[in-house]
Amino acid sequence: MDWKLILLIEHIIIYWTYSYYLLYKNKIDNKYYIPDKTILCNILTNQIIGTLSLYFFDIKYIISPIQTINIYTTIYIILLDMFILSIFQSIYFYILHRLFHVKFFYKNFHYIHHKNYITLPYSAINCHIIEHILINIMSVLIGTKFWLCHQNSLIIWVWYATITSVYTHSNIIREKSPMRHDFHHLLKNVNYGSGYEFMDKLFGTYYKE
Ligand SMILES: [Zn+2]
Ligand SMILES: [Zn+2]
Repeated sequence: MDWKLILLIEHIIIYWTYSYYLLYKNKIDNKYYIPDKTILCNILTNQIIGTLSLYFFDIKYIISPIQTINIYTTIYIILLDMFILSIFQSIYFYILHRLFHVKFFYKNFHYIHHKNYITLPYSAINCHIIEHILINIMSVLIGTKFWLCHQNSLIIWVWYATITSVYTHSNIIREKSPMRHDFHHLLKNVNYGSGYEFMDKLFGTYYKE
């Protein structure tokens, strides 16, 4: 099977398993276990169509096996790749997300994601499909346009991005002590960034209680 399809399946499994693990582990009321039908359809559409958009992105990566290299070099390559991809992700995500708060984009696309006031783990990608492709997916992949990374790094990076996006949208498990992206959903005009905090600090939109 094509590795992008495997990635899609892995993304869906990790996304939902981790969402329910967080709800269960934190003893969140069962009423939150079943998402509203429109929200569920929206998320699944984003997961399927969004990931299929990978086929049009023309990702460049190294495919040669790194199993033959010693374990320390393998870990070093993966961490270095992920570090560089995460820098590009932080910059790109901030710029695009901030743009989506401009009236036209907010009114037509981004308002859907902001219907999630107190966020639930699985609401991470409850957003417009255009937003999902342009912000969520592109921010994760944009680094591959500038840095040739290994396919294995890319796969682990997508797992990591899935887990962190679910966790940052779990306001329900920490209502009394909101974190960075929780404040974005509560206040709307702060903490536009994802990943590192430097973009919010640079542009004066960083907020911490
Ligand atoms: Zn959000
Ligand atoms: Zn926003």
